[in-house]
Amino acid sequence: MKTIFEALAWKEIRVTAHAAAQYIPLKYGEAGTGGTRATLIAGTHGDEGPWSALAIKLFCQRAATQLSGRLRVIFTANALAAEVERRNSWIDSPNAVDLDGVFPGNEGGSHTERLAAHLAPLIADSDVVIDLHGGGTWCINAFVKRFEGSEQLAADLGAPFISNAPNKRGGLTTYARSLGIKVANVEVGGRSGREMYWTERNALGLERALYNLGVLSLGEPPAPAEPAVDVGSTQAIRAKVGGIFVPTLREDAVGTIVPAGTEMGKILDLHTLEELEVFTAPFERSAMMLMRPQICTIEGSALVYVVAQPA
Ligand SMILES: [Zn+2]
Repeated sequence: MKTIFEALAWKEIRVTAHAAAQYIPLKYGEAGTGGTRATLIAGTHGDEGPWSALAIKLFCQRAATQLSGRLRVIFTANALAAEVERRNSWIDSPNAVDLDGVFPGNEGGSHTERLAAHLAPLIADSDVVIDLHGGGTWCINAFVKRFEGSEQLAADLGAPFISNAPNKRGGLTTYARSLGIKVANVEVGGRSGREMYWTERNALGLERALYNLGVLSLGEPPAPAEPAVDVGSTQAIRAKVGGIFVPTLREDAVGTIVPAGTEMGKILDLHTLEELEVFTAPFERSAMMLMRPQICTIEGSALVYVVAQPA
């Protein structure tokens, strides 16, 4: 029997773009018909895309085409942003447009607004949408955002932490929810020495979620997810001043809980290397949701951590 990956039938939408190539392809693959219609989408933010796309591919390569529903995969939603490893496409400049902020799009708008308008019908034609973001080029993370009505889906995806998601204006998940579609937002993985560990974990989570949603009809149900830690709301920590960021906690700390006062990292003056700011864990027990795992130079106000207090 073919794997889902081998069985994917590919379709292409041409989205008007720059002068040289005229159109950028938006490709999506489909397998199965009838039943629950699930859409997996990665890379609405270009700098977060490949890790999630690889997790979807890994899941599709392992699963035989025993489908009782229809599966649609969009590996690269925002190709122009992906090729420059940026959150947004450069082509809408001077004003960067966040694809995950302009749904349901505008057919007569900028490239990114048109892209959203092409994606919107693919979202609307779904019973379930799993929107995979994740860490990426500059950060790693380890949580799933849960929405009302899709608590089980969020748990099945198997991330260490589950947080409540605020409704993002113009967001893909906000649009999907306005249509009554069940959604989850995966924020797991990113560039690090452990990126394949998280890719593997995401692939298993997708298999579990799609089985429980009735899209897959395997012989054996996948093993249940380890219980996630519920963190409710999250707190973003930004740099007070720009400089050289040196992490104390490294990639193995993401997805763990550290005690109060744990040194997480510091910022050094770019010119003198004087220590300007030290980040310490703010809560009695701080869940490490998102972090920068590597030395880098950052601007003042840059996002450095997302932490949370376990419920
Ligand atoms: Zn994102």
